[in-house]
Amino acid sequence: MHYTTEFRDAEIVHRISAEIKRIITQPWVIMEICGGQTHAIMRYGLDQLLPQEIELVHGPGCPVCVTALELIDKALVIASQPGVIFTSFGDMLRVPGTGRDLFSVRATGGDVRVVYSPLDAVRIAQENPDRQVVFFAIGFETTAPANCMSVIQAKNVGIKNYSVLVSHVRVPPAIRAILSAPLNRVQGFLAAGHVNTVMGYWEYLPLSEEFKTPIVVTGFEPVDILQGVLMTVRQLEQGRHEVENAYSRLVNQQGNRAAQAVINQVFIECDRKWRGIGNIPNSGWRLRSEFSQFDAETRFEVSGINSEESPVCISGLILQGLHKPVECPAFAKTCTPEHPLGATMVSSEGACAAYYRYSNIALTQSTKQ
Ligand code: SF4
Repeated sequence: MHYTTEFRDAEIVHRISAEIKRIITQPWVIMEICGGQTHAIMRYGLDQLLPQEIELVHGPGCPVCVTALELIDKALVIASQPGVIFTSFGDMLRVPGTGRDLFSVRATGGDVRVVYSPLDAVRIAQENPDRQVVFFAIGFETTAPANCMSVIQAKNVGIKNYSVLVSHVRVPPAIRAILSAPLNRVQGFLAAGHVNTVMGYWEYLPLSEEFKTPIVVTGFEPVDILQGVLMTVRQLEQGRHEVENAYSRLVNQQGNRAAQAVINQVFIECDRKWRGIGNIPNSGWRLRSEFSQFDAETRFEVSGINSEESPVCISGLILQGLHKPVECPAFAKTCTPEHPLGATMVSSEGACAAYYRYSNIALTQSTKQ
């Protein structure tokens, strides 16, 4: 397929890999931000093509994984209420809250529906004027424009029975939090190219400068990822710290201004709690007061919820690059994609799911059971 096959070309992959081996002189720790990149690395065995001096650690760029447990518990409470149609992307249905998930709400009579777009949820609200329709608006900068459009459309059309449970997060404050942490090991970042398609990379320039850390905007195919690693290693070896763009076929510095305008019309920055990591200042978006009538948290009574994380799950440490999935004692034993203890084992972008699916370690562990 045009625009895909050339970025999976084995000859180019090996050529870039050889160049990385040629220039590297010392160990470096590099974090790929996005769970989609983690899956590509594991799926294509790209880590096996890198010199042993490079350690790839896996970042927090999996929206399902970082949605706070409290928000999931609020979703469970709302979805359980009579008269509510709760809509969500499919991955969220299996993410464990405290003791149950949205699938179990559906199994006990809740009207929980998978949608492929928030505009589908708006349509469901129009078709069911006597029901309250809620959309679980999670994600990074990539999904924010569509989620904002759904609220604008509901307001323009005068739909009163539609609301959104917002749990949006932003990448730059997460990079800041990782680099500011006392135990940080990350020396360079592969930024998530699809986020930069929307937002550009102007926000990353002061971060790279302040923390003297290379950030390379990187795509998702094997050639993209190895090119991102090569550009990062080249900077590290030369003592440079810049923002570079290895995904120029889709990303420019300014990003999609129209999409950013839609986000700014509907959302305002706020502090946000990330699952397993904790509060990160200014790392989220919430609805502006002009759109507060669409806020599911105020429309429904969801206070007084006690959320309890699995005591064995170390996904927060994995998402900060401090541990690998295989270092979790539950990995492929008591925690599997069929019976996940944490969100990183559920999501199609979760690091634990990637290791389970593509690494031999998971196979070894599961055959010992
Ligand atoms: S293997 Fe399961 S329990 Fe361990 S960190 Fe991953 S999701 Fe959490």
